[in-house]
Amino acid sequence: MLPTRTTLYDLDREAFGELLDGEPRYRLDQLWSGLYEQLSDPADITNLPKKLRERLDRELPGALRPVTESVSDSGDTVKFLWELEGGSRVETVLMLYSERATVCVSSQAGCAMACGFCATGQAGFTRHPTVGEIVEQVVRAAQRAGDRRVSNIVFMGMGEPMANLDRVWAATERIHGDIGLSARHITISTVGLVPGITALRDKPLPVNLAVSLHAANDALRDELVPINRRYPIDALIEACADYLEVKNRRVSFEWAMIDGVNDRRSDAEELAALCRRLRPSAHVNLIPLNPTPGYPTTGTPLKRVHEFRDLLEELGTNATVRQNRGTDIDAACGQLAAGQPVVLSTKS
Ligand code: SAH
Repeated sequence: MLPTRTTLYDLDREAFGELLDGEPRYRLDQLWSGLYEQLSDPADITNLPKKLRERLDRELPGALRPVTESVSDSGDTVKFLWELEGGSRVETVLMLYSERATVCVSSQAGCAMACGFCATGQAGFTRHPTVGEIVEQVVRAAQRAGDRRVSNIVFMGMGEPMANLDRVWAATERIHGDIGLSARHITISTVGLVPGITALRDKPLPVNLAVSLHAANDALRDELVPINRRYPIDALIEACADYLEVKNRRVSFEWAMIDGVNDRRSDAEELAALCRRLRPSAHVNLIPLNPTPGYPTTGTPLKRVHEFRDLLEELGTNATVRQNRGTDIDAACGQLAAGQPVVLSTKS
């Protein structure tokens, strides 16, 4: 069920302008700079009159109720579990690196795409978050990051961004225009919803596109990523090539390496052939599959992940082995389940 109340980050600048009708014009600038530059809560924007702060507090509460905060990697990975109105839950992950600070945002509570190896997919779909519920994840994580300014946003948390694209896009515009991140530092990751990729191509900002490919032939991808039956590889690659051509932004393929399933020489060869269809080329991000309760197969050992990377490079495809963060607090890729019970897979 969608929430009934409007929360603080649901309103764009224009809507706030209407709300502040009757106040001097500069109040809107003060409020906007307080919320989005200082990342302050309204109560702490002290250049606003107390009465106004109290009114904002009363009429426009925050949307995210903190449930737990888990810390890993000596404080460099923080996972937030939030409860939304109505009781559904989402998770957000803050990752601090020496040269950047990344927030991994949830675009949905749960997910309907049913990829068997993903904890979010195993738990199913709950509801679409609002724009405010998405933007607030970034604000809260950025507040937590403190002096370490958040530099990158990845829509790689729970959910399928393309299945909630209107809200994800409105949130992206706020993150870009108001929080001030460059489009080059914002990545939207999709399971491969072709109409979503096409819609994103026609949006004004050149954000990065990541596609969770995981298999380079339809027989295997149908099994791993069920939505492939609706949008098979050929149509997907076409949409990616088109995105790259129009936006001139890097397209990357995510490849979760599953022992004995998608880590053979033939997989690398098929993958490299797909990458060649994108000009100049697609980039591949490799990560060993993280364990989830509902999927029996394990990740490829790191040594073979590196060998697979070398093989791709020999075949002319750039590939990076991704560092895994927060596995011990279930914060790594595919592990976000927001404390929801998972449906155990019957596959063996
Ligand atoms: N629905 C979007 C956004 C989720 S991003 C998408 O599919 O792209 C989360 C990434 O983690 C996706 O690439 C997903 O395929 C990957 N993933 C899911 N389960 C995983 C697991 N157990 N181990 C490693 N990566 C996983």
